[in-house]
Amino acid sequence: MHGQAQPFLPFAAPDITAAERDEVMAALQSGWITTGPRTKRFEAEFAARVGAKHGIAVNSCTAAMHLALEAIGVGPGDEVIVPAMTFAATGEVVRYLGAKPVLVDIKAGDHTIDPDAIERALSARTKAVIPVHYGGKACDMAPILELCRERNVVVVEDAAHAFPTRWNGRSVGSVGDVTCFSFYATKTITTGEGGMATTDRDDWAERMRIMSLHGISKDAWKRYTAEGSWYYEIVAPGFKYNMGDIAAALGLAQLARADEMLARRREIARTYIGAFESDDSLELLDPGCFDHHAWHLFVVKLRPEAMTADRARFIEELKALGIGTSVHFVPLHLHPYYRNTYGYHPADYPVALRCYERSMSLPIYSKMSDNELDRVVSAVLELLRRFRR
Ligand SMILES: *Cc1c(COP(=O)(O)O)cnc(C)c1O
Repeated sequence: MHGQAQPFLPFAAPDITAAERDEVMAALQSGWITTGPRTKRFEAEFAARVGAKHGIAVNSCTAAMHLALEAIGVGPGDEVIVPAMTFAATGEVVRYLGAKPVLVDIKAGDHTIDPDAIERALSARTKAVIPVHYGGKACDMAPILELCRERNVVVVEDAAHAFPTRWNGRSVGSVGDVTCFSFYATKTITTGEGGMATTDRDDWAERMRIMSLHGISKDAWKRYTAEGSWYYEIVAPGFKYNMGDIAAALGLAQLARADEMLARRREIARTYIGAFESDDSLELLDPGCFDHHAWHLFVVKLRPEAMTADRARFIEELKALGIGTSVHFVPLHLHPYYRNTYGYHPADYPVALRCYERSMSLPIYSKMSDNELDRVVSAVLELLRRFRR
């Protein structure tokens, strides 16, 4: 039967254990709950883990990307190249600074930004490119870095999906110029809400740190400690983007468990690949090197020519079977803001459009049990049989 009485399996759920609870309790009992020693420790441990000189912990990946673009000097009249297939954050941070997000198409095989499309979109005004490591797979970074180095264009990576992701013997976080991670509740490690920018550049790190806390020079967070002073100077109109110690406590415990959680997501990915790869009504994304992938998303694409149901119907039927799914993403150029502001047309990014129309993301998170994994596989296979032409 169709899994009646089975509880609904959510698309995503955080993996919180006693280790996280203990670390958060310790932060609460320490008497210091805003930015402090745990945040500093989280920054140092995270930066070391990805091989970067600096880590700046903030309250979202969106904040990290905004700070990164501000630090490199993006402003009105500048252009920043962004893939059409991404989340709202990647485009809006460009607008925060009055610059223009120039959308480019993706590669159908893995939904990462197309380096040839970047090359065509580069102009004298291009200040930065924001590659998105879609789903946890690193973008094709060699040509992207080469194109950008030649023209003095900064590479700010949107690594919201990409911890821990490897690329060419390195960790994402020490590949481009600035890398921005997300610790939102659904991401591979979480602080509830949170983010981190990593970079090797001292000047950008310093600027991001200052701007993350009101533009106050030098260790603003220390002003209430014994080492600190009541006196401070505002050097720029900054933002309120700092991460607090309660969130950092969660982050420290999650960071210590990152490999264990990745190992479980790999098992889930292997199971899905084994179950679906030979089915010709579904298409899977090219994972590249399996072990370099963070496995944040598991995206399947329906082949409409092989099916009597479209993607929307498939998602509805999975929901009826108690399985939560999601879609990553409605491409930016289809949204009213981008259409109205920049006159984009759906056909402007045909690959992103076609991939979007056929994609859905299946649950892949470390807390999923074997039984829940079996339920997803059986439900998808049952619907493929039901809707096969
Ligand atoms: C989740 C996400 C973000 C934003 O992360 P926040 O921490 O919620 O700001 C940015 N880019 C992509 C691709 C994402 O999926």
